[in-house]
Amino acid sequence: MRSRSIYKSPAEMRAMLEPGRITAAALSAVRDAIRPGVTTLELDAIAEGVIRDAGAEPNFALEPGYRHTICASVNDDVVHGIPTDRPLEAGDILSIDCGALFEGWNGDAAFTVVLPDDGQESRVRSRSRLSAVTEGSLWAGIAALASAKHLGAVGEAIEAAVDARGQYGIVEGYAGHGIGRAMHEEPSVFNYAVRGRGAAIKPGLVVAIEPMVTAGSSDTVVRDDEWTVATSDGSDAAHWEHSVAVHAHGVWVLTAPDGGRAGLAPFGVVPTPLA
Ligand code: MG
Ligand code: MG
Repeated sequence: MRSRSIYKSPAEMRAMLEPGRITAAALSAVRDAIRPGVTTLELDAIAEGVIRDAGAEPNFALEPGYRHTICASVNDDVVHGIPTDRPLEAGDILSIDCGALFEGWNGDAAFTVVLPDDGQESRVRSRSRLSAVTEGSLWAGIAALASAKHLGAVGEAIEAAVDARGQYGIVEGYAGHGIGRAMHEEPSVFNYAVRGRGAAIKPGLVVAIEPMVTAGSSDTVVRDDEWTVATSDGSDAAHWEHSVAVHAHGVWVLTAPDGGRAGLAPFGVVPTPLA
C-alpha cells in the first residue's frame, strides 16, 4: 500500500481554513471567560458550544478514552490536563488546548494565560514571563518554518529562542505533529534540535507546532488520572500551539485570526493567505 504523502494539495489546505478558524474562535471564547472562580469544566462547555454551533465536532473527544473538548493544564500540569470542577484561583497559570473537526479536517491550537493576583505580583510576573518565553519560541519556530528548507530548523529555532531567555526546561517527551484528516499525522515536529535535518519544508506541509516549556526541570510524569502530564519537580509549565500551512506563496497560521501577522512581525515574516 502506498503511504499517504505528508504534503497536501492547495484544495486540501484550503479545507483546513475553517476548522482552524473554529478552533481559534473556541479558544478566544474560553480566554474571555477565564477568571478566578470559573472551573475548567465550565470552560470546556464554552469551547464545545462554539465548536458545535459552527457545525464542527470537538476532535479531542474523538480520541479513545477522552470525552472533553479541551485540555486544561493548571500550574505544574504541562499538557493533557482533564477539565475539573476545581475553581481557578488568582495567580494560576493555565494552558488551554483545543481542536475542531470540520468536514473531515482538523484544527489544533493552545494558549497559556496567567490569572491576575494583586497579592502575588512576583509570582504572576515569573509565570507571565514563562508563558511569553513559550509563545515567543512558538513564533520563532513558525518563522523558521517560513524560511528553512528542513523541519529540523523549527526545533533548533524553538530551542534557541527558549535558551536565549534564561534557565527554562523544554519538555522532550511530547512533540508537534502533522495535521490534516487526522489530528496527529506524520511528521513529528520536535521542540529542540535533533540529529538529522528532518522532512523537507515545501508547499503542502501542514504542521501543529507546540512548544512545552517549564520553569524548572524538563522531566515530566503522568498523573494517576493517566492523562495529565505534569513536571516531575512541581515547577510551572506553559504550552502554546498553532496549526500552520506551508503553501506556494508562504505560510499561513490556520489557527490565528490574523494568519500570524502580529506574531511573525518581529521576525520580518509576513504570512500570505492561502489562495
Ligand atoms: Mg493541541
Ligand atoms: Mg497538537
